[in-house]
Amino acid sequence: ARKIVVIGGGPGGLEVAWIAAYRGHNVVLFEKEQNPGGQFRIGAIPPGKQELAKAINYSTHMGEKYGVDFRFGTEADADQVAAENPDVVIVATGAKPGIPDIPGVDNPKVVTAIDIITGKEDAGEKVLIVGGGLVGCETADLLGEHGHKVTLIETLTEVANDVQESVKHFLMLRLKRHEVQIATNTTVKEILQDGAKVEKDGQEKQLAGFDNIIIAVGAKSVNHLKQQLEGKVPELHVIGDASEPRQAIDAIEEGASLAIKL
Ligand SMILES: Cc1cc2nc3c(=O)[nH]c(=O)nc-3n(C[C@H](O)[C@H](O)[C@H](O)COP(=O)(O)OP(=O)(O)OC[C@H]3O[C@@H](n4cnc5c(N)ncnc54)[C@H](O)[C@@H]3O)c2cc1C
Repeated sequence: ARKIVVIGGGPGGLEVAWIAAYRGHNVVLFEKEQNPGGQFRIGAIPPGKQELAKAINYSTHMGEKYGVDFRFGTEADADQVAAENPDVVIVATGAKPGIPDIPGVDNPKVVTAIDIITGKEDAGEKVLIVGGGLVGCETADLLGEHGHKVTLIETLTEVANDVQESVKHFLMLRLKRHEVQIATNTTVKEILQDGAKVEKDGQEKQLAGFDNIIIAVGAKSVNHLKQQLEGKVPELHVIGDASEPRQAIDAIEEGASLAIKL
């Protein structure tokens, strides 16, 4: 049996941890939050997404069953990881919301989609969502369902480009029912007092009168522990969104593929 330390209890970390434990290894998993699931737990909050929580519960349950030593509420640093004397370290620290580098982004009305979905921040009545991928659309759906007036802007020619066709169909119907205003081919240039300066087809215009500007422009990998641990532990891997932000299925697949090689 090898000593394996997994950093991060999102779908990728949970998957590699339980399968490695099932295969007889001694596995410690550090998770800074009190609960497992990472971004996927947040992804289970928007309308119709509750099923996702089952996958988190399943892999957590399997980890408990096969003896993973879960250390919830523990943000691991390089020293703490090295102190475990691991044979293998797996960085599964996921991703955090990307913030566009544009003027005005420090306006207090600017919040992230994740802070809205988790209820960490309350949204005002009229909101502008910047970014029309899966997360932006689901935030629009959630807020629309609660009666907020939502405008969604997207640089690309269509929204929900990263959403599976069958899911997208119903998501778009719901956005329509909630009367979400959608502007495609529209790029934010600057955040203003109560809105944004945008560019559409080479022309600039201002969108104003919003209580919040919600940022949903994609995720950025969190993987500083990789650099910090390189050369300090015998074997080091990075999986899931920590290597490149994608979908849970990718993190789970990478976790499972790695676990069967350990
Ligand atoms: C709103 C939303 C909806 C989504 N919907 C879907 C969907 O429908 N389908 C889909 O496939 N994907 C969806 N995704 C994407 C999916 O959630 C991610 O791709 C997936 O969670 C990545 O898994 P991961 O294990 O790599 O990282 P994460 O889920 O980001 O988990 C990383 C974990 O590491 C922990 N961590 C970080 N640093 C440390 C540290 N130093 N010490 C201890 N713990 C640490 C974090 O707290 C976190 O729990 C959605 C994402 C969001 C935000």
